[in-house]
Amino acid sequence: MFENLSGRLGGVVKTLRGNARLTEDNMKDALREVRMALLEADVALPAVKQFIADVKVRAEGQEVVGSLTPGQALIGVVYEELTKLMGAQNDALNLAAVPPAVILMAGLQGAGKTTTSGKLAKLLKETQKKKVLLVSTDVYRPAAIEQLKTLANQLTVDWFPSDVSQKPVDIALAAIDHAKRHFYDVLIVDTAGRLAIDEAMMAEIKALHAAVNPVETLFVVDAMQGQDAVNVAQAFNQTLPLTGIVLTKMDGDSRGGAALSVRHVTGKPIKFLGTGEKLTGLEPFHPDRMASRVLGMGDVLSLIEDVKNSVDEAEALKMMKKVKSGKGFDLEDFKTQIQQMKKMGGMSALMDKLPGNMAAMADSQVNDKSVARIEGIINSMTPLERRKPELLKASRKRRIAAGSGVTVQEVNRLLKQFEQTQKMMKQFSGGGMMKMMRGLKG
Ligand code: GDP
Repeated sequence: MFENLSGRLGGVVKTLRGNARLTEDNMKDALREVRMALLEADVALPAVKQFIADVKVRAEGQEVVGSLTPGQALIGVVYEELTKLMGAQNDALNLAAVPPAVILMAGLQGAGKTTTSGKLAKLLKETQKKKVLLVSTDVYRPAAIEQLKTLANQLTVDWFPSDVSQKPVDIALAAIDHAKRHFYDVLIVDTAGRLAIDEAMMAEIKALHAAVNPVETLFVVDAMQGQDAVNVAQAFNQTLPLTGIVLTKMDGDSRGGAALSVRHVTGKPIKFLGTGEKLTGLEPFHPDRMASRVLGMGDVLSLIEDVKNSVDEAEALKMMKKVKSGKGFDLEDFKTQIQQMKKMGGMSALMDKLPGNMAAMADSQVNDKSVARIEGIINSMTPLERRKPELLKASRKRRIAAGSGVTVQEVNRLLKQFEQTQKMMKQFSGGGMMKMMRGLKG
C-alpha cells in the first residue's frame, strides 16, 4: 500500500535539488508530479485540487535554509497538508451517553462490517474495559447472524440473539433493553449490507437509526474500492448522520486513495483502520502517522519534528539578527547552539537524521559526552572573553582550563571547533543551523 505514491513523491524531492527557495516557478513541475501521484493513487479529484492549492500557498516563498534541500522543504509542507487533508488528529469514539452507548455499523455487503463489529468489541473490552454487547440485525442473511455469533464466541464477547423472522428495529430495541438491564456500557448494532441506491434498504437503516439513537454511526468501507468507496460513503452520508468512517482492508494492495480523500469528500473523520482478517486487526486512525507512511520519509519528517519541538524561536531569531547585523557569532552563541542541540535529544540522535555533510560537520565538533565539557569550559570564561575570543591568550587559557577541570589542549580544541562553526555560519550567509531551525518552525 502507498508504495507507488511514496516512490513518486520521493522523486519530487530530487527534482527540486539546487534551488535556493521554493517559488511558483520551480515548484510547478514538482507540484504537477505530486498531483499526478495522487490521482494515480486514486485520490478523489476535489481532494487533490484543494490539496495542491493549499500546498502552493503554504510553500511559496518559504526560504530553503541550511542543508535542507528545497525538495525536503516541500516534503515538509506536503506532509503537513496531507495530515490536514485526513483530519489533522485522531478522532476518538464518543461513548459519552447514558449506557448503553449504541454504535450503529453501516456499509455495503462485504465491506467488513461484521468483522469490524467484532474487532471493535474486542478493542473496547481490552483497552477501555468496557462491557460490550453485540447484536446482528441482518435478517436477510441467516449466515450473517451466525457469523456474528461465532465471532462473539471466539472473542468471548456477549451477543444478543436474533433471527430472520424478526424486524431489525425490534431486534435492536430488545437488545438495548437487555443491555440496560444487564449494565452493558456499549451495544454494537451490526446491520445488513445495503446499496445506497436501494431505497427500501436505506429507509430501513434510517428507521433503525431513529429507533436506537446511536452515539456513533460508523460507516464501514473497503479501502480497496478506491474512489468508489468514497462515493458510496458520500451517498450514505447524505442519508444518515454518520459520525465516523472505518476503512477496512488497509492491509491489502489498495492504492490508498480512499484514505486520502474520504475525509475531504464527506467531512467525516476516519476513526479506525481495519488492518487484517485477524481480530486484532483494528487500529485508531492517526492522520499524521498515515501521512508519514504515505510519504515514506520518516527520517526527514522526524528531523523536522525534533527541530520544531526543541528550538526556542526567540533565541534563534536573536542569533539570526546578530549574525546578519555583522556583529559575528561569539562563544556565547556557540554555547546556546550546543544547548539547543542537546535539547534535540542528544547529538547522536540528531546526527542520524541530519543530511550528510551537515552531520559530518556536527560530528567533528561535538558528541554527547563532550557537550557538558564544552559548556563547562565556556562557563569558566568571563563575559568579555566569550564575546571576544581573540583575547584568549596562554594565561587566560590556563585559568579557564583550571576553572573547568580540563587541560589547555582541550580549551584549544574547543576554540578550534568554535572557529570552524563561525566559518560555517558565515558560509551559510545568515544564520546556518539557527536559520535552518527557524525555517523549519513555520
Ligand atoms: P460484512 O458483509 O460487511 O459484514 O463483511 P464481513 O465482515 O463479512 O467481511 C467480508 C470479508 O472481508 C471477510 O472475508 C473478512 O475476513 C474480510 N475483512 C474484513 N476486514 C478486513 C481487513 O481489515 N483486512 C482484510 N484483509 N480482510 C478483511
